[in-house]
Amino acid sequence: MAGSAPARDRLLGGLLADGVDERSCHSRHQSAMYRRRAGRQPSPYLVSKLRQHEALQRRCGPGTAAYSHAQEQLRSGKSHASVGSPECKYLVSISYRGLGNRILATASAFLYAVLTDRVLLVDPSNEMGELFCEPFPGTTWLLPPDFPLTSYTNFSIQTAESHANMVKNKVISTVDVAQGLPAFAYIHLDHDATGEDKQFYCDEDQRVLRDIQWLVMRTDSYIVPGLFLVMAFQEELDMLFPEPDTVFHHLGRYLFHPSNHVWGLVTRYHDAYLAAAHQRVGIQVRVFGSAPNSPELLEQITTCAQKEGLLPELLTAGAPAATTSPPFRRRSKAVLVTSLKAWYYDKLKSMYWEHATVTGEAVGVHQPSHEEYQHFGARSHDTKAWAEIYLLSLTDVLVTSGGSTFGYVAQGLSGLTPWVMFKPDNGSVVPNPPCGRDVSMEPCFHAPPFYDCRIKQGADTGKIVPQVQHCIDVAWGLKVV
Ligand code: GDP
Repeated sequence: MAGSAPARDRLLGGLLADGVDERSCHSRHQSAMYRRRAGRQPSPYLVSKLRQHEALQRRCGPGTAAYSHAQEQLRSGKSHASVGSPECKYLVSISYRGLGNRILATASAFLYAVLTDRVLLVDPSNEMGELFCEPFPGTTWLLPPDFPLTSYTNFSIQTAESHANMVKNKVISTVDVAQGLPAFAYIHLDHDATGEDKQFYCDEDQRVLRDIQWLVMRTDSYIVPGLFLVMAFQEELDMLFPEPDTVFHHLGRYLFHPSNHVWGLVTRYHDAYLAAAHQRVGIQVRVFGSAPNSPELLEQITTCAQKEGLLPELLTAGAPAATTSPPFRRRSKAVLVTSLKAWYYDKLKSMYWEHATVTGEAVGVHQPSHEEYQHFGARSHDTKAWAEIYLLSLTDVLVTSGGSTFGYVAQGLSGLTPWVMFKPDNGSVVPNPPCGRDVSMEPCFHAPPFYDCRIKQGADTGKIVPQVQHCIDVAWGLKVV
């Protein structure tokens, strides 16, 4: 275990509820000891809201009378009988694509569930049931297998019950709120979502959706900046997150605890390769399957890390090396490289073995795995990806690849604002500058709306509220700052 780390508040300033059996989820109790920095403190309002939400999940979740009743309503296809909002409302979250996408989608769904007092249930496919511990004490967040909408995982932009299609076909009305409500609505917020689907981020649409008992949402994105655009949520968001740039930092640490198997991978690797170093530098090198090894990308990595003072420069041949005589231990840096390929790690490692550094520091370079290409639905692949994201989040400084949700999750969990390596316009030229300091640790929303609901026309949504701006790595994207 990380013996040198100061004892931390294990419950992260009240973010986590006390009293959960330690054996069921080691990471929940141990992760604070692996972090050198305590991270940001959650607001007392967020802490109390999370406890209330946990109570809601227990009161209405699977196995309760309320859940059976709501399931019956859905099976019958009828809307709930009472006027106004039903007592227990649900949000089923379908996430897919890579692990980073799935984590960001689930965190977004959770925030929407909190803002709208809905029980969050996650689709257990795509390893969502295996990679994480249960986040809510005393209940499950996994959607039970007897869910009445049997084909929900095939819901798409064409689904007749999508919120956009129902508005278009006048099944629901954003004007006539007295109109009867369907038993459920599907919210399509995928990368291919249309302008109509994105009316979800408008207050009128939220007003209609509010009283529908079941919502099924599919997204592969971090839609949180979109939620900041909904006027009705703004006051609550301000109270929950007085520091708006901490949304994913808090929600990610609250929700995503590596399961015991994954935690074993994280802690064994950490203790063997990272724990002893004076400083740990994370470098995330996102490469895509068929891309050849790129000397330009290698140069981009080293120039970025050296220019920003994250890695020491190398001594030129013949220059006298700084010496350290025993028993003094050299200052050391452990570099954690994550990538699907081994080539970049191999080059960096040789560089720091074959040359002395100008500072005299010892630089060790490590990479847990190189899976070569992205697999879908392979358990051990996802397990390694999750362990590596988590290990990256334990480093002291972070360099990430622009546009990658894998990196976004690591930076958010760690609480680090990363140096982002820009994607070159032309693969054969090293971008200048090679990287830039991000504006916040929040993930970027890659599929935002481009519509101002108040004036009902297209607009630059990076200019509507001060907390939401454009990202530096994906120009059209939005992020909370
Ligand atoms: P994004 O595509 O970069 O936004 O990140 P995602 O996490 O959503 O999808 C990429 C997927 O490819 C990951 O979930 C992993 O399955 C795999 N992958 C990409 N980079 C790495 C890496 O450095 N290590 C491992 N183990 N897997 C990776």
